[in-house]
Amino acid sequence: MKTPAILVINAGSSSIKFSIFSAAAVPGPEDLICGGKISGIGVQARLDARSADGTVLADEHFPENATYDELLARLLAWIETRLVGLELVAAGHRIVHGGRDHVLPSVLDEKLRDELRRLIPLAPLHQPHNLAAADALARLHPDLVQVACFDTAFHTGRSEMETVYALPAGMTEDGIRRYGFHGLSYDFVASRLEAVTGEEGGKRAIVAHLGNGASMCAMRNGRSVATTLGFTALDGLPMGTRSGAIDPGVLLYLMEQKGMDAKDLTCLLYRQSGLIGLSGISSDMRDLLASDAPKARFAIDYFCYRAGREIGSLAAALGGLDVLVFTAGIGENAPEIRSRICAAAAWLGVEIDEAANAEARGETVISAPGSKVAVAVIPTNEELVIARNSRALVQNA
Ligand code: AMP
Repeated sequence: MKTPAILVINAGSSSIKFSIFSAAAVPGPEDLICGGKISGIGVQARLDARSADGTVLADEHFPENATYDELLARLLAWIETRLVGLELVAAGHRIVHGGRDHVLPSVLDEKLRDELRRLIPLAPLHQPHNLAAADALARLHPDLVQVACFDTAFHTGRSEMETVYALPAGMTEDGIRRYGFHGLSYDFVASRLEAVTGEEGGKRAIVAHLGNGASMCAMRNGRSVATTLGFTALDGLPMGTRSGAIDPGVLLYLMEQKGMDAKDLTCLLYRQSGLIGLSGISSDMRDLLASDAPKARFAIDYFCYRAGREIGSLAAALGGLDVLVFTAGIGENAPEIRSRICAAAAWLGVEIDEAANAEARGETVISAPGSKVAVAVIPTNEELVIARNSRALVQNA
């Protein structure tokens, strides 16, 4: 008999990640069979994949001119070869924007894909790729149940103070409101808060998801209370290539005085700003940390300063702070950045153990013993949340 399995796909603009989990009733990290990604899309695309024990299963480079669709087809063909002895019962996708109408994990059929396509202008870096992967899989496996898991979902339930913009009320009703993102990551971290940090986990926590995209979420008892991203994934912190918060008057000025149109502004705000815009060197924090260039240092200083300010704002929303957690690529792997952001939050009672911070691997508490705020690193696992949600949906179907 074949082992039931769940395929998880997280298709972004520069990478397509996948994992295959065996379909336990509630999948855990131990149910991972294999995973990998195509990275460097648009530059030098490469597929690497490993089994759960770390054995290399694939390490292939693709021609420089390979299109997104070709790479997706190559990846799906490679996944096919790994399915011997497995029977896929569902494919779960990370879908960045669910808009006002889509919150719970849902069967991602053609009708839903068409509805979600309308939200592409709200998440142009992610939504088209999320849906392209689902379209391709539908052509390849028309009978496979596909499941949409929304990055916006974790933030539903916040107060109106948090979700409404100060615009004429009719606009809020039309769906122009703060949604928030990185919800699958926050969902996972929330599920680990108490286990990693003890009693404090259930209280007032700020989780800093610092990756190529970056945001923070204030949680009370593991539920989102406030977050730095809004209607689109442009607000809040500066990111790898995105601006973060900007006075909308700047955009009016650029349109009126510099002749920029919506396409120009989309390119400016999504692709040419943030760390790459500030440094002129790279959007990758590793490159900036390795560089002596003053502009690289400035980009890092700016990133840490803005992160410190957002912590102050979110702590105000919570009325204090008990727990601070770092996750995602930068949050999990850059001790210097964690240390500097914690220093900016010292006034809230954040004090870290620099040795523990420098050595942190996996889930680690890095606060000093007397720190008023517990500080931890919790590696995120969005794929596991998608596998669990997808399993639950097909189980209950
Ligand atoms: P993510 O979007 O979560 O995959 O994070 C990607 C980002 O994490 C990259 O763009 C890097 O800036 C950052 N990153 C990954 N590893 C490290 C590291 N060892 N030190 C600093 N930054 C890192």
